Amino acid sequence: MRKKQLSFAVLAGFIVVSGGSGSAFARTPGAPLHPGFNMFSKQQDVQLGQEAAAQVRAKAVVVPNQFLQDYVNRIGQRLAAAPEARSSGFPFSFTVIADPSINAFALPGGPMFIHTGLLKAVDNEGELAGVMGHEMSHVILRHGTNQASKANLIQIPAMLAGAVGGHSMLGQLAQAGVGLGANSVLLKFSRTDETEADAMGSHLMSEAGYNPLEMAHFFEKLSASGGARGPQFLSDHPNPGNREQAIEAEIRTLPQRNYGSGTGEFGRMKQLLGQVSTSAPGSAFRGGNVAPNGQPTGGFKQIQSRNFTLDYPGNWQAYGSKDSDSVTIAPRDGLVQASNGSTQVGYGAIVSYFQNEGNNGDVNQSTDELIHHLHANNPSMEISRNRKQVAVGRYQGLITMLQSNSPYGDIESDALLTVATPQGLFYMIFIAPQNQFANLKGTFEQMIQSIRFTS
Ligand SMILES: [Zn+2]
Repeated sequence: MRKKQLSFAVLAGFIVVSGGSGSAFARTPGAPLHPGFNMFSKQQDVQLGQEAAAQVRAKAVVVPNQFLQDYVNRIGQRLAAAPEARSSGFPFSFTVIADPSINAFALPGGPMFIHTGLLKAVDNEGELAGVMGHEMSHVILRHGTNQASKANLIQIPAMLAGAVGGHSMLGQLAQAGVGLGANSVLLKFSRTDETEADAMGSHLMSEAGYNPLEMAHFFEKLSASGGARGPQFLSDHPNPGNREQAIEAEIRTLPQRNYGSGTGEFGRMKQLLGQVSTSAPGSAFRGGNVAPNGQPTGGFKQIQSRNFTLDYPGNWQAYGSKDSDSVTIAPRDGLVQASNGSTQVGYGAIVSYFQNEGNNGDVNQSTDELIHHLHANNPSMEISRNRKQVAVGRYQGLITMLQSNSPYGDIESDALLTVATPQGLFYMIFIAPQNQFANLKGTFEQMIQSIRFTS
């Protein structure tokens, strides 16, 4: 029997970072844009997106107002007629869902969902077309499945093989930890992705008769009004820096056009919007899960990975494949199944390596880079200045305390152990609800002391 392999790309808000720096390399304005590395075929993007869209439609409230649906569809079709969208061959669709948060999202292969909160927030049609053009560009450039391919290098090929023959691709992906939840790797983009989607979005807008600057204006408006946490849109689509200037530079490479030819229905859209219910369907992660009080019992067992050995509590389990260096160790109820099928770690430990580009063996600097990546994927994460040294085998390690939103609700404490090794930056994140962290400290310390690097 084939052993079921689990990996957890989506974890207590943490996304396991497996290589790649994601740093925003300067792109020359006007340079051609192409999809990056991807283990999915375009047809698989479409299949995955359609399965996921069915799930969204089942859970969300599709606004029962034909004018609003038609209005958004008309803008979408104008963008989809631009050469880069047309030549992608993806079947785009546009659906307004009742949700007061300022957001929109597009699934791989084309289905796009626009929140009523976004329709409320935009001040002109160009701003709406800007968000939609930006989302459409993520689809064309296949950023969602590119991210999933990078995050789950080991599991994706087996998953795709398993999805052949009519099995649900989304189900297979959920097993690999790539769900559709609040932190889904399919819907969270790197700064490089953002730069590309801004650039291509400006092309689509311009072709469709909208001033691309409206996209930049709207994003700036969002960040200015966001307060400490900011709207969900900006945590999924982080500002790559100098957004407005980059879009202006891109526009200068486009043929000159007169903009300003909207659908003429913006005012009526706003009017009707006041009449539809925009109650939220609720977060996928709300309620239901209770944190374990799982005190470790039953002595310790040992994991032998390719590059290290490590002891862990006998009543916990290790999930991961033997020939990889990523493993999740947790009591059974330390894994939280979100309603969308993705799995998060609310209580336990994640072990992996981080390959940073300019690896110079400096543990402080590499740890900063890792934290930067974790934070980009999880803006709720708070970093304390509290960092201390610890001996790990023959190396000197660092422990950095972090805080984040717990999948059980409330706050969790995360202790990040990092060790610079010749194989890359080894890291282990200990996770527990804040009010239980103190009880686990002894266990974590014992696990750290047991680590031996074997190569
Ligand atoms: Zn984006």
